[in-house]
Amino acid sequence: MIKIHDKVFKPFISHDRILEAISGVAERVNADFRDCEDVPIVLCVLNGSIPFTGELLTRLEFNCELVSIKMSSYQGTKSTGTVLNMMGLTADVRGRRVIICEDIVDTGNTIVALKELLLDKGATDVKICTMLFKPEVYKKDVRLDYVGMAIPNAFIVGFGLDYDELGRNLRDIYVIDE
Ligand code: 5GP
Repeated sequence: MIKIHDKVFKPFISHDRILEAISGVAERVNADFRDCEDVPIVLCVLNGSIPFTGELLTRLEFNCELVSIKMSSYQGTKSTGTVLNMMGLTADVRGRRVIICEDIVDTGNTIVALKELLLDKGATDVKICTMLFKPEVYKKDVRLDYVGMAIPNAFIVGFGLDYDELGRNLRDIYVIDE
């Protein structure tokens, strides 16, 4: 058990299991991109996706560029439903294929807004790659191209995921104990 701010969390997904899921995602991304002639962009959605994107990146076997963007829709342990673009893209995506790397897809508001933004900025193709997915909450029609692991609808922290900015440094993933 660990305590962050006012809430208690219990162990949920071990570090090894997280890395296994990321290796599985990498295999599928590699199968689709290995022989590509363009240089796709790997897009890290700050801050939560930093550890995931870092681990995924070292497993990719094709030339790619790393770009970042900061989006935010969560406050405390709940989605606000409004997706804010907190920082522009760190590079031009015009004419490029983009692989979005998300830590977790919950309602889907963030990836839908992000996909729209990227196509609007001239990306030629957008693939969605997420470490975790909450299928019970997802309400969108947009297809998730690469999913590491599906999890039940509960609030989690660790391996990049925060509770009001704390918990991102935890090696394992923890679930709220209610
Ligand atoms: P969506 O827009 O799909 O509802 O939410 C996506 C974002 O909400 C994620 O990138 C993440 O920042 C945050 N989020 C969703 N579920 C959780 C969760 O269980 N724990 C934490 N810490 N953040 C979450």
